Amino acid sequence: MRIPLVDLGAQYRAHKSEFDHAIQQVIDSCAFIGGAPVEEFEKSFASVYGVRNCIPCANGTDAIYIALRMLGVGEGHEVITTASSWIATSESISETGARPVFVDVDRYHLIDPDRVAAAVSPRTRAIIPVHLYGQAADMRQIMSVAKENGVWVIEDCAQAHFAEDSGQRVGTIGDVGTFSFYPGKNLGAWGDAGALVTNNDDLALSCRKYANHGSLRKHDHEIEGINSRLDGIQAAILSVKLKFIDEWTAARRHVANFYDESLENVGDIETPGVRSGATHVYHVYAIETAHRDALKRFMEERGIMVGIHYPTPLPLLPAYRHLGLTSENFPQAARQQSRILSLPIYPEMTADQMQYVVDTIREYFVSR
Ligand SMILES: *Cc1c(COP(=O)(O)O)cnc(C)c1O
Repeated sequence: MRIPLVDLGAQYRAHKSEFDHAIQQVIDSCAFIGGAPVEEFEKSFASVYGVRNCIPCANGTDAIYIALRMLGVGEGHEVITTASSWIATSESISETGARPVFVDVDRYHLIDPDRVAAAVSPRTRAIIPVHLYGQAADMRQIMSVAKENGVWVIEDCAQAHFAEDSGQRVGTIGDVGTFSFYPGKNLGAWGDAGALVTNNDDLALSCRKYANHGSLRKHDHEIEGINSRLDGIQAAILSVKLKFIDEWTAARRHVANFYDESLENVGDIETPGVRSGATHVYHVYAIETAHRDALKRFMEERGIMVGIHYPTPLPLLPAYRHLGLTSENFPQAARQQSRILSLPIYPEMTADQMQYVVDTIREYFVSR
């Protein structure tokens, strides 16, 4: 049996005629950038998500950058973020001219709120928690640190569409939430796509303007902006997919529950676990084991694709060598990096596939 880490073709095959029809409509109406398909998607995403404004943009990295810029973050400022994420989070901070200040994570791979509080300085302007793997970070504590210090909160929700903390959807708790609709994300387009969500109407308007060359109406450029637009075909695909997101999230949780139960007491495996108060939408299902590299090889030899998200904590990447940070500054993230292994997870996974993954892991621990 061969099992991919994710299966992007399955969603197309399951709803082919609906996708084909939606794409054909965009072609027939030539609404390639902006226009009806984009308006329809941003309205339905805002309404389904339960937020006043959704501003579409070109990708999830731009979404963070746009939010930072429109909150006035730039040269001479610091932005606190997590040591464990994809580089897009910290890259967008540097792109504004501000400096990323990395803090270590907790056992759930999420930014540690106590360390956030300790990292605040007079130059801090914002905090970017990442709801990594699809699990909500501790927003209650992060918001209280932010309020105490008068700094903004941008939630990086690229991996966590529809996850919740204390019953509230991620992205609607801080000042603004940013999403990626990269193809492999829980809600994914077939190219690059992203969005911001916010209940702050003024911020929404300035983000919308900035993403569209500084104008809300054609040829009316109040400021200089950037070109970060969502195209019609991606929007049409996303509108089709949005109808199935609850079903797909439930299917991901089903796979995760099966793994949780089946891997209990297998070798030294630690299953991901869910923080009290949080929900998890399982963009990634990452186990931890001291035998990570050998287990990875064993599974790959048996046709199971696994991943490592991510092999190096952000502050220890060559890109941040100039900050002079070492693994001693990030004991949790540094410990986890050699132990994490992401198992295949996608909504269309069959019972046989799930069983094969679990059986293979058990076989590894019996045979060693
Ligand atoms: C995917 C991702 C992004 C960036 O999204 P793009 O659409 O690829 O630009 C940002 N942050 C995190 C945590 C991500 O996983």
